[in-house]
Amino acid sequence: MMLAYAENGRPLPLVAPISQPFFDAAREQKLLLQKCPRDGFFFYPRSHCPHCLKTDWSWQPARASGKVYSFTIERMGQDPSQRARIPFVIAVVDLDEGVRIIGNIVDCAHEDVRVSMAVNVCFEIIDNMPLTCFRSVSAT
Ligand SMILES: [Zn+2]
Repeated sequence: MMLAYAENGRPLPLVAPISQPFFDAAREQKLLLQKCPRDGFFFYPRSHCPHCLKTDWSWQPARASGKVYSFTIERMGQDPSQRARIPFVIAVVDLDEGVRIIGNIVDCAHEDVRVSMAVNVCFEIIDNMPLTCFRSVSAT
């Protein structure tokens, strides 16, 4: 995905027509995923079901909960726009629907983050653009 930049220099995703419903819902703190009617496969902004390659999927509300699959702690701030934020956690999360997504873990001390930690999806809004992030279930 290509990037745009917020006024404060933070990188932001570019919205494409296929992903517009995802971002519109995310601005309201709601997670939508695409679901295939044949195989029940969930996925996120793509034109085709990655399982059967058909295009008659529909947007469905997701539970927005999952577990940390892996994570890293950014301590170096190699991207200058991120230096004021370090340290912060970048996590890969397996959602209950089977979709694996990436985002920051917020409102949690970085030393408390663990693989398999239960999290909920939330969205940080910057320049009206929602960025996917996660909160520990134990913190909500
Ligand atoms: Zn399918």
